Amino acid sequence: MLNSGMVDKFRRWIEESEEIVLTCHVRPDGDAIGSTLGMMHLLQTLGKKATVVVPDQPPRSLAFLPGFKDICIFTRHDEYSRRLMSEADLIICSDFNKLSRQDSLGAVTEAASAKKVMVDHHQQPDNFCDLSFSYPDMSSASELMFRLIAAMGYYTEMNLDSATCICTGIITDTRNFSVNCKNPDIYEVLMRLLDKGVDKTKIVREALLTRSLWSLRLQSYALAEKMEIFEKWHCAVTALDKSELERFHYERGDTEGLVNEALDVRGIYFSFFLREDDDCVKVSARSIEDFPVSKICEDVFGGGGHLMAAGAEFKGSLEDCRKKLIEAIPEYLCYLPSRPRKVE
Ligand code: MN
Repeated sequence: MLNSGMVDKFRRWIEESEEIVLTCHVRPDGDAIGSTLGMMHLLQTLGKKATVVVPDQPPRSLAFLPGFKDICIFTRHDEYSRRLMSEADLIICSDFNKLSRQDSLGAVTEAASAKKVMVDHHQQPDNFCDLSFSYPDMSSASELMFRLIAAMGYYTEMNLDSATCICTGIITDTRNFSVNCKNPDIYEVLMRLLDKGVDKTKIVREALLTRSLWSLRLQSYALAEKMEIFEKWHCAVTALDKSELERFHYERGDTEGLVNEALDVRGIYFSFFLREDDDCVKVSARSIEDFPVSKICEDVFGGGGHLMAAGAEFKGSLEDCRKKLIEAIPEYLCYLPSRPRKVE
């Protein structure tokens, strides 16, 4: 599946490099952090000076990962991040394929003179890297990173820390092997990681389940009081404004996973969650059975993502965002299955 000429080139570039930076998208998730830290540990084992530089603060749910505290956060350490980027021989861009996904760090990545390698699984990559591994069929950037490590012949050098980070990326992007993992050989990858001694139970608990009490209360409130169900459209829309977020002591990450909850209801095929932020409304969308929420996010809000997991940012009020969405939805109902199940 991987092009061996490209893999050889990647390996050669690693061998030739002294200082390597790994970087990812803004609001980094388990896959972004898992894939970069996972590769960082391997590169350190190979004797390289490898550092992870991220656009902004990663979530606390990933603090258990080995190497987490050494991550260089651009919004906090602007100058140090710039120096690492400009002095790097090689920059590995993981889990994103457009420089705009890095916010203001994108310009720093772009300006760096290092060779750049993309390791990503999103659709329609931009051409800003010297070597691009872009595989939208992969479950996660972490799965792709593992495959590259194995293909380059580094599996033996991979230690438990590296395997733990890579496994976390796969587990978070697939929600513990429940989505985005149709391909059976993902379990072979899992087996190779477990062979390294990875504690999968701990990863699931820390990265997916553990949450704050206020997060649980906020989400319970949202589901009980704020989730609108459009039965004929087989869809749910949940919106939270600032005062509600404040009432439940909202911290970043507290609404993680909320958009998925409605999909557990029989007959609901797609779900939107709208959250009022400081300067915009954050839109997230999830669906089942190939309903293309990415298309709605793209057409209506100029966002994007995966077919069944997408998002956008809306400049305007929460109510305008909600209205715009609800007005647009009927146009997309043709993508529902021909005989959708009744909502019940
Ligand atoms: Mn990902």
